[in-house]
Amino acid sequence: MPDLIVIGGGIVGGAIAWGAARLGASVALLDEGDIAFRAARGNFGLVWVQSKGAGLPPYAHWSRRSSELWPGLAGSLQERTGIDTGLRQPGGFMFCLSDEEYESRASVVQRMHNESGDIGTRMMDRAEVRAMVPGLGDRVVGAAFCPIDGHASPLYLLRALHTDGQASGVAYHPNCKVDAIDAAPNDFTVRSGADRFSAPRVVIAAGLGSRDLAPMVGLNMPVTPLQGQIIVTERLPRFLDYVTHVTRQTEEGTVMVGDSQEDAGFDILTKVSTLSHIAARNIQIFPALAAATIVRTWAALRVMSPDGFPIYEQSERYPGAFAATCHSGVTLAGAHALALAPAIMRGELPSELAAFSAQRFGS
Ligand SMILES: Cc1cc2nc3c(=O)[nH]c(=O)nc-3n(C[C@H](O)[C@H](O)[C@H](O)COP(=O)(O)OP(=O)(O)OC[C@H]3O[C@@H](n4cnc5c(N)ncnc54)[C@H](O)[C@@H]3O)c2cc1C
Repeated sequence: MPDLIVIGGGIVGGAIAWGAARLGASVALLDEGDIAFRAARGNFGLVWVQSKGAGLPPYAHWSRRSSELWPGLAGSLQERTGIDTGLRQPGGFMFCLSDEEYESRASVVQRMHNESGDIGTRMMDRAEVRAMVPGLGDRVVGAAFCPIDGHASPLYLLRALHTDGQASGVAYHPNCKVDAIDAAPNDFTVRSGADRFSAPRVVIAAGLGSRDLAPMVGLNMPVTPLQGQIIVTERLPRFLDYVTHVTRQTEEGTVMVGDSQEDAGFDILTKVSTLSHIAARNIQIFPALAAATIVRTWAALRVMSPDGFPIYEQSERYPGAFAATCHSGVTLAGAHALALAPAIMRGELPSELAAFSAQRFGS
């Protein structure tokens, strides 16, 4: 019998399974497979801190902690698998294209500073930004800059977590859609068709699939989809050493662009109108992108709680069952692997995670 069952082999479940296996636990990692909605395979790859947690300081602190843990995670994965997750933390910009945007961003920066402390985020005027980022368009009036923002390759991260996890005690079961869980305190039997898996602990980290599974263990994970669309250009000579919340140049040289947020249900089709809007705004920031060839576009679904903040909770009715979901699974991979997984294996979530209980949504 494994020590732990993790349902969902995306970035959240993969990081928790890896973190538990690293501590010596045997883990069964069950994943529905390619027919599921999988945000882990369609996201932007930011390890982003500056705008995380306005109105909820514990989320700001958790995001910062994760960004601090990320280098250890990346280093460990590279040492053990040879896979470079591409982590770079050069600092990130949120560009403003009007005075109104600048004022509005400045007030968020100030508010987050007052609520959650100083992480070095500050507003920069046009001249200061231009000195750091050449080639900016005339519409850019300034930016917020945070020195700890960064990015990574989400696909290499996922591959490294799975590769090292499976070398360290994770039994991965793809094409294994969980359809029922028989629950008793510290005693769970998870069913997938005719297959049965039993363990004293279970984590529900099934992204958009979590909503249906959580009530089976006395938890509430009212997540819904929020569509995002992404454009990828051909490989370009390096022009962007920093990241922005809507633009990043990958290690290979392609430029990823995208910031759409649309309630489109479970639709993962791209729309020309949305892509045009994304492209137009980014060309205003980096005019040279107008000449770049687009090689790929896609849409994927974020996993959103009602207030956009993560949900972490242990079931009161069935201790040993845990919920884990968020809409920033890349950013939070460090914390999930190196802080949340150990807490789950200890059987108790730390008080710093109390703010993330789904009880904040009522029953
Ligand atoms: C367009 C876009 C851009 C994004 N950009 C960023 C970013 O820049 N930085 C960042 O930090 N985050 C970003 N995200 C969010 C990030 O991708 C998600 O937070 C993360 O992927 C969530 O991971 P997850 O493991 O919870 O869900 P998923 O990655 O969706 O994985 C859930 C897994 O559960 C499995 N599953 C579902 N139901 C069942 C079941 N019944 N039984 C077994 N398995 C099941 C599925 O097969 C799937 O593999 C972005 C998301 C999108 C869509």
